[in-house]
Amino acid sequence: MNESLLIRLNKHPAIFIVFFCICVNSSERIVKSSYQLNGIEKRSMVGVIQMMQDSAVILHLAGPDYHFSPLSGMTVFSSKTNSGGVFTRIGSFQDSCDKIKFVTNLGIEITVEGMNADTSSISEKWYTSYNDTRRSSFKMIQNRLISKFGDYRASEKKGHKHAGVDLKGSSGEMVFPISNGVVISTSNDRFSSYVVVCHRLKNGETLFSKYVHLKVIKVNAGDYIDHNSPIGRIFNQNDLKQSGYSHPHVHLEIRTSYDDKGAASSYSMTMEALKKYCIDPLLFFRDNLSSDE
Ligand SMILES: [Zn+2]
Repeated sequence: MNESLLIRLNKHPAIFIVFFCICVNSSERIVKSSYQLNGIEKRSMVGVIQMMQDSAVILHLAGPDYHFSPLSGMTVFSSKTNSGGVFTRIGSFQDSCDKIKFVTNLGIEITVEGMNADTSSISEKWYTSYNDTRRSSFKMIQNRLISKFGDYRASEKKGHKHAGVDLKGSSGEMVFPISNGVVISTSNDRFSSYVVVCHRLKNGETLFSKYVHLKVIKVNAGDYIDHNSPIGRIFNQNDLKQSGYSHPHVHLEIRTSYDDKGAASSYSMTMEALKKYCIDPLLFFRDNLSSDE
């Protein structure tokens, strides 16, 4: 697999040098890719790949039928490694012809190509996560705040730090993303269903927003959405009775990384551990929403 790329690299050491310089620091990129099932179908996927000096980690790849992440048991094969979820990079991603192929343990061949072919628009403007009358007003967030970042939590791992803010809503109220982006993960768990959206920033970095305790999720992994796209509704009174939660609310996290696959949301026992992945949404909104009354 990919022998032609390896040969080309060997013949052109300059390519390797360029590729090394660009990728000294780890960075996360939204990528477009395609996959073939039984060698015939070709479908598009989007996802996030963390690029490092000489390897890359697939954080998520999602399409209409499949959602791959290392935690879902994906095995990746390349000509250099066959470790799960991590594959050795074998090309310069500055070259639009470059491709990486790998095969999952489901027998699906995925080709990630054109690593610069990121068509998601940059997130510059931010909004509240409900259909508020003034979605760019910080006051709207303050009015709905019922639990802060870092609060004590007894659920899941007892004593963990609250990884986001809880924003109260009305029964069954619709939730919207805080900016445009691409959906990279959804879960339909009964009480903690969630949607994760990846936002591309002007400086090239990525930011993630995670919306938890949803019912009736309206988006799929791989969807490009904007701040007016409904992503799901929060619990109504009937859902609340079953779940034991007292108020209809959305748990909103803002993350600088999602390479823990969400674990930091429930298992961060110190603020230091939490801040490796999550930022205080209140501070983020204070800086990025309007302070108008
Ligand atoms: Zn919460």
